Amino acid sequence: MSEGKADVVIKASHVVTMKSPGEVYSPGYVAIRGNRIVEVGSTGRLHLKAKETVSCRGQVAMPGLVNAHTHSPMTLLRGAVEDVPLRVWLNDLVWPVERNLTEEDVYWGSLLAQVEMLKAGVTCFNDHYFYMHKVVEALERSGARGALCQAVIEGEDSGRGRRELEGSLAFAKKFREHPSGRVKTYIGPHSEYSCGRELLARAAEAARTNGLSVHMHFAEDRGYYERVSAREGKEPALMLDEVGLLIGGSVFAHGVHMSQSEASLLARRGVALSHNPVSNMKVAAGLADVTMFKEQGMVVGLGTDGAASNNALDLLRDLRVAAILRKSTRGDTRAGPAYEVVAEATVDGAKALCLKGLGKLEGGYLADVVTVDVSQPHFQPLHDLYSAIVYSATGRDVRHVFVDGKHIVEDGRLVGLDEGLVIRMARRRAHLLLEKVRP
Ligand SMILES: [Zn+2]
Repeated sequence: MSEGKADVVIKASHVVTMKSPGEVYSPGYVAIRGNRIVEVGSTGRLHLKAKETVSCRGQVAMPGLVNAHTHSPMTLLRGAVEDVPLRVWLNDLVWPVERNLTEEDVYWGSLLAQVEMLKAGVTCFNDHYFYMHKVVEALERSGARGALCQAVIEGEDSGRGRRELEGSLAFAKKFREHPSGRVKTYIGPHSEYSCGRELLARAAEAARTNGLSVHMHFAEDRGYYERVSAREGKEPALMLDEVGLLIGGSVFAHGVHMSQSEASLLARRGVALSHNPVSNMKVAAGLADVTMFKEQGMVVGLGTDGAASNNALDLLRDLRVAAILRKSTRGDTRAGPAYEVVAEATVDGAKALCLKGLGKLEGGYLADVVTVDVSQPHFQPLHDLYSAIVYSATGRDVRHVFVDGKHIVEDGRLVGLDEGLVIRMARRRAHLLLEKVRP
């Protein structure tokens, strides 16, 4: 305990620190000064004076959730086309829409996503899309934290690939030192199949020269993955290694079809994985063997993917899917224990994104804190906090959200942002956008 003052003290019935399974305070407090946590402990040992106390009786305070892979502006396509094969969905909806996107679409789509995520306890998101400077603008407005990259797709057009890589690099360099301190940037080649070997080599070179790492999709769709294997005559991860793209600190999304030796190679190179169970199952991409990835030494975070393939950005709701999927794939109830899955959505997610000082409730860490109301019937009786978070909680149970020390959601309500306006504007943008691509 330290003498002195805190700006805010959150007092909760339970404080889950995510330092280790046993480090829980019931009841406990989290003291915040500026944008940092100064102290966490048992309420009986609180000696700090606070300017403001937030009383969270019946609630669990925990680290803000980290969504390790998404495409925030894709909220505009939520539910627009369902139940078609992945390639049809990409060719007939996603890619035509993306050719017609405007900056305004990206701004309002992303702001809607950020509102949705913040209210559901997601304080940090790893985003991969176009016109990303508009996502930065939305983030300035919402108060969220983001790891951001501008997408690079080549397809059959190498000129497009090179132009988009220049754009991705310019974005990453311009916003890496954002004054809010809440932005980190990556280079964003879309995937091993949508960018050719030469462009991937250029992306690697651009990233290494500028001290950046990479956020990309990898081994999501079996057909695309096999096509790259056949073209290269080797496993796709080996090709990525040859072109220099396995840069430590990078994060790959999905990995559904990668082999054990590829997982081991990514782990040795310091590339982390975002597992996106709901999206993988919804687009019938396959079932990722996360237990194997972890056995090979990979750091694994959890992502929702975009709202067009989930259809929500509610990471808490997805925890239970992540856990039961792992048990079913392995045929082993011991796979995916609750603490481990909560860690993937918090401390391991922060580790996957190389965000130091994030993901735990500990003195000196960034003050991204959320509370979940566990007093409700669907949590009772409360035998185990981690089980409650994984199997009973959804984003609708979130009551308070702090990002960078700022109180952004108070008792379930977003403060400082007109939620009704965001919804109206996003609906309008979605309507205009779909009008352009539908015959
Ligand atoms: Zn994705």
